[in-house]
Amino acid sequence: MNRSTGGIDLKKREAFAKLPSVDKVLANQKIQDLLKNYPRELILEATREIIQSKRKEIIDKNDDLDSFHIQEDVLINDVINSTKNKFQLSIKKVINATGIVIHTNLGRSKLSPKVQDELVNIAFGYSNLEYNLSKGKRGSRYDHLVDIIKRLTGAEDVLIVNNNAAAVLLVLNTIAKDGEVIVSRGELVEVGGSFRISSIMELGSGKLVEVGSTNKTHIQDYKGGLSEETKAIMKVHTSNYRILGFTESVGIEELKQEEEFKNIPIIEDLGSGVFVDLSKYGLTYEPTVIDSLKKGADIVTFSGDKMLGGPQAGIIVGKKEYIEKMKKNQLTRALRVDKMTIAALEATLRMYLDEEDAIRNIPTLKMITCSLKELDKKADVLLNRIQALNIDADIQKEKNVSQVGGGSMPLEKLDTYTVTIKPNKFSVSYLEKRLRNSDSHIIGRINEDKYILDVRTIEENEFDLIVKELKLIFN
Ligand SMILES: *Cc1c(COP(=O)(O)O)cnc(C)c1O
Repeated sequence: MNRSTGGIDLKKREAFAKLPSVDKVLANQKIQDLLKNYPRELILEATREIIQSKRKEIIDKNDDLDSFHIQEDVLINDVINSTKNKFQLSIKKVINATGIVIHTNLGRSKLSPKVQDELVNIAFGYSNLEYNLSKGKRGSRYDHLVDIIKRLTGAEDVLIVNNNAAAVLLVLNTIAKDGEVIVSRGELVEVGGSFRISSIMELGSGKLVEVGSTNKTHIQDYKGGLSEETKAIMKVHTSNYRILGFTESVGIEELKQEEEFKNIPIIEDLGSGVFVDLSKYGLTYEPTVIDSLKKGADIVTFSGDKMLGGPQAGIIVGKKEYIEKMKKNQLTRALRVDKMTIAALEATLRMYLDEEDAIRNIPTLKMITCSLKELDKKADVLLNRIQALNIDADIQKEKNVSQVGGGSMPLEKLDTYTVTIKPNKFSVSYLEKRLRNSDSHIIGRINEDKYILDVRTIEENEFDLIVKELKLIFN
């Protein structure tokens, strides 16, 4: 060992000696106060980590060890912040500035504020979840939703499960177990999270009989798929893609007219459940649950948290004889919904009794139907607020397009206004990262080297937070 390293080793030992022990940190009054509100485990872990990081700092230092000193109050603050971070929920609220309304990664639909009281009431108390109040005896959790959904869709009966994938699984397992289901090759979709009709069929233990070709399926193809084992015909709404051009498919009405299919139930997986004819609001017509039943579908399944704008759920509507069978299927018990889902769904559905109420108060519908004029005004407000910050960046209002998302209405181009930010002193990706990791967790998009805030999915009351975070980042 040469002299100089010997000198450094000595200095390092001196520096190590300055580090407080875990016990000393724990004895600090601020940490004692912290112990009243946070688990000891987490505080201990944070303390060890902070001390360890200081050790590493000493090890990595070579010539500037003289300047090394421990500021105890800084170290204590680090422990406090680290403990608080560890205690935070992993699932956090974010600001969706992407303009994608049903953003699967960001929790799909947000519930209406009008649902909040009902949800909290039920979640934090006892309820008549499975209790019939008028008879004073056991009831069914599914009863709460039957009347309202029957009223809104005209269905004979209703069943609710955990999500639409579960709904399709339950339907196929009940109707088509050990038999065959005919599906057009043009409708064999895969949706997010690798949900494939074919895989669900395997789980449901039925056999898929594919008919037709990707772009064209004729009534003769369906007839060719028939056998002694045919238990159902399944139609799948190709919600997340479209086959355009030279195409042909067979509608439910057409299938219903054929003598051969008379006793074969027709199942339709609609994906997104729509109760409102959106063409009235300038959007492309999306098949509604009501229309699907009217055309003759025996069973229809759809999600609660896509276009419907409610909580995650799978809704099954249709003929009583099939729904009764599903209720008796043991799978139903495994796929059942929680009381919070029932409360949020019932309260959301109640708004549909008045279509205007639904459009105005269900965030998903409100954001999708928001007019360009309103978005323009909203973007002006945000633009002015950001410009007033006088930050070193190029800030513009620009026309752009937002998406419905969630695999719904893939071709719909929703015109929108955005506020774009191009920082002068640092990169756009740095800005994106800082906003994403800020306390408000702002999630926007980058396009052509500009950061884009699409006002369609941002609430006006979130502008304050965006402005606050921008100010912090640019100063
Ligand atoms: C989204 C979708 C599903 C799956 O619904 P989840 O509610 O996500 O389980 C199934 N089928 C179609 C056609 C869909 O669009």
